[in-house]
Amino acid sequence: MRNYTTQMDAARKGIVTKEMEIVAKKEHMTTDALRKLVGEGKVAICANKNHKCLDPEGVGSMLRTKINVNLGVSRDCKDYDIEMEKVMSAVKLGAEAIMDLSSHGNTQPFRQKLTQECPVMIGTVPVYDSVIHYQRDLATLTAKDFIDVVRLHAQDGVDFVTLHCGITRKTIDQIRNHKRKMNIVSRGGSLVFAWMSMTGEENPFYEYFDEILDICEEYDVTISLGDACRPGCLADATDVCQIEELVRLGELTKRAWAHNVQVMVEGPGHVPLDQVAANMKVQQTICMGAPFYVLGPLVTDIAPGYDHITAAIGGAVAAMSGAAFLCYVTPAEHLALPNVDDVKQGIIASKIAAHAADIAKGIPGARDIDDRMADARQKLDWEAQYACALDPETARQIRDSRKPEDDHSDTCSMCGKFCAVRSMNKALAGEYIDIL
Ligand code: SF4
Repeated sequence: MRNYTTQMDAARKGIVTKEMEIVAKKEHMTTDALRKLVGEGKVAICANKNHKCLDPEGVGSMLRTKINVNLGVSRDCKDYDIEMEKVMSAVKLGAEAIMDLSSHGNTQPFRQKLTQECPVMIGTVPVYDSVIHYQRDLATLTAKDFIDVVRLHAQDGVDFVTLHCGITRKTIDQIRNHKRKMNIVSRGGSLVFAWMSMTGEENPFYEYFDEILDICEEYDVTISLGDACRPGCLADATDVCQIEELVRLGELTKRAWAHNVQVMVEGPGHVPLDQVAANMKVQQTICMGAPFYVLGPLVTDIAPGYDHITAAIGGAVAAMSGAAFLCYVTPAEHLALPNVDDVKQGIIASKIAAHAADIAKGIPGARDIDDRMADARQKLDWEAQYACALDPETARQIRDSRKPEDDHSDTCSMCGKFCAVRSMNKALAGEYIDIL
């Protein structure tokens, strides 16, 4: 029988949970140091008590940077088995979280399958599911309908829910008056905005925030405070709409923490590279160090087809400057639903960004694998290099497809016998160096 409600409640009562023990071990830190951070809200351990197969992770800027992969069935891709295959391959490639953004059919069986079989954190955006769940048009839904879907997801074992609580009726005027280039590009944010515009009512996720906190406390669901006003282009970055919403997210963070509910705060968006670090600092100040979950940031608007790269550049700088959690972006961003290969490209790009940031931040143990790779490269030990590679399959396939002329050579076809590594190894060993 648990004598605590949430991980945060446990931490504040001085209880070290089994999840804290696992996370502390993974992060090379003491359980006491981790417990303190969870109690302060600087680390979230998203672990719904109904997600029994979860291998828990901590999310916080002083821990390894985590990555999230968005998946889920939609009208144009409604095969649950294909989507489950993508989920498991994402987990194998190192994703620490899957967000189920299903928007077609009966979404509950897939969500339940995820929390019954998938060991990584599961997140959802209940407002997407509301229209599907009730099979009714947005304008006919009531505030209670939305809250009931949050409860349903909590009961199903979802570890974190994105809720766009930060926009209010004031935001409607601001969006109309401020004349952003891209208005609102958050899918959930646009639905909440549309619902408020059609019904004339206040944002239900803001108005009934206390009821939502009761649900999240009961099941230990972490709230990921959605950024409805995240900039959708560089011109809208760090504008009044974005910052005004962020201030409200800071207030809501305080209210959630007072209820022992764990919080993450979502961030931009499209942001010029020189504004990324400043955005992280402002968020950390306004939201008192709550873990920051960034969607990109994409540092240029002109690379459709390559947005996994624009996001990885922004993601690396964001994570180095304080973001804790990166949402992956695929090459299909802005263009189409990602296929299996897009998903892989997006994950690898995010893993590179997260890992580069962890090295820069001096996360304990982060650089060990790079040092092992350097040793393997110095020895021209190709199998050892593949073992250290983020994507061994691709590395092997590239080398095998373009082997050096002499098939038994330990170099690669880039420089052949001009191989600097080979020449130096031989020179330092006092051996003769044959080039021709
Ligand atoms: S041949 Fe050139 S690229 Fe290949 S391992 Fe040697 S130095 Fe590196």
